[in-house]
Amino acid sequence: MRRYSAFAIAREALRHHTGWGRAWAAPEPKKHYDVVIVGAGGHGLATAYYLGKNHGLTNVAIIEKGWLGGGNTGRNTTIIRSNYLQDASAAIYEKARGLYETMSQDLNYNVMFSPRGVMMLAQTEHEKRGYLRTAHANALQGVATEFITPERVKQIAPIINLDGPRYPVLGALWQPRGGTARHDAVAWGYARACSDMGMDIIQTCEVTAVTREGGKVTGVDTTKGHIGCTKLGIVVAGHSGQLAEMAGFRLPIEAVALQAYVSEPIKPALDCVIMANTVHGYLSQSDKGEMVIGGGADNHNNFTQRGSFSHIEETTRALVETFPMLSRLKMLRQWGGIVDMTGDRSPILSKTPVDGIFINCGWGTGGFKAIPGSGWGFAELMATGHSPLTAEFGLERFREGRFIDESVAAGVAH
Ligand SMILES: Cc1cc2nc3c(=O)[nH]c(=O)nc-3n(C[C@H](O)[C@H](O)[C@H](O)COP(=O)(O)OP(=O)(O)OC[C@H]3O[C@@H](n4cnc5c(N)ncnc54)[C@H](O)[C@@H]3O)c2cc1C
Repeated sequence: MRRYSAFAIAREALRHHTGWGRAWAAPEPKKHYDVVIVGAGGHGLATAYYLGKNHGLTNVAIIEKGWLGGGNTGRNTTIIRSNYLQDASAAIYEKARGLYETMSQDLNYNVMFSPRGVMMLAQTEHEKRGYLRTAHANALQGVATEFITPERVKQIAPIINLDGPRYPVLGALWQPRGGTARHDAVAWGYARACSDMGMDIIQTCEVTAVTREGGKVTGVDTTKGHIGCTKLGIVVAGHSGQLAEMAGFRLPIEAVALQAYVSEPIKPALDCVIMANTVHGYLSQSDKGEMVIGGGADNHNNFTQRGSFSHIEETTRALVETFPMLSRLKMLRQWGGIVDMTGDRSPILSKTPVDGIFINCGWGTGGFKAIPGSGWGFAELMATGHSPLTAEFGLERFREGRFIDESVAAGVAH
């Protein structure tokens, strides 16, 4: 793989960009791999990358039914933060946030990580107490957050209305090194690095069955034929229940659509990320100038990947009262993704009842921020059978009632 650099750009400019190679190869599947990962979203690709980088496993295939990054990884609002309440969550999300800091250099691919700061507004006394508690927990966990006053909120985000018609702003949980990254670039950067290590990324190839023998995985049937493997990682977000069913076990997970939309681009007006969980909406401004807007998840299980009028209405109502200047903007486009929700709003990174099959899912409305940490831990689990990062997130927690309750941290998603 040729390294990307300022020198390479200058050289290609001189020869009319005829020398760029393909970013990743498009191979036909081999008969057998040491590891097959189903799902070329961020979590699947990051898992493959760290299997190669940290554990020397490169006889790996990543199988994707659509195009890589075309699932939730390419549909999210790109918020990155690690201000969760429980220790196990803070550990994996902070690991991920730390890896985002150096991801562009590590992958030699500009993922446009922008640690512009993330603010979660407290708009009721209850919410304020909750965030104060999180700030104290984060201090113990080594996650840099603080609870800030309404005056400081206004200083950081002048476009905010502190005295909305329904809820005043009473302060905010502020994580200065939280922010955003370019979601497609994260998938593309990992894909390019995986391909460079000799791994096969097989797109437009749907897994239709999981084959087993004597309680052990032997491979997968796909639309491109049977592919054998010694270990199988299932990393398919909203389709996790279906893949688990193919493998002969059940998951405590639901699939729902989560929606987002962007406004027409405007001049820079907001240089941090703001989440208003009580009124239910969140906002950042993309480098192109669009206001990137998200709200809640659908109230019913479904597999749609599109938006709906009820969500535009609900989310716009919430944001217009918090940021009155938004009322004059036009909506540019809207979309949805299928997210995988667990009861405690925490992910599952686990061995399964089938020998050789591992599952990574349940990131729900907030897994983009976790991609590198999840890949790091899940690769370790798959390669060695144990990872300190994933130990608490096993499937057995649902049987044992040992939940990792993050319903507040994930209140409005992300
Ligand atoms: C609108 C929206 C906004 C969001 N905002 C944020 C945010 O701001 N911050 C944040 O941290 N998170 C956010 N999220 C959540 C985040 O996007 C997801 O948690 C994360 O991208 C999940 O990544 P993944 O790799 O697990 O799944 P995906 O990217 O969905 O990848 C799974 C892949 O598996 C493939 N697949 C499924 N079935 C099969 C099969 N049978 N065979 C082969 N391949 C298969 C799919 O095609 C898909 O490409 C948001 C999600 C949505 C929808």
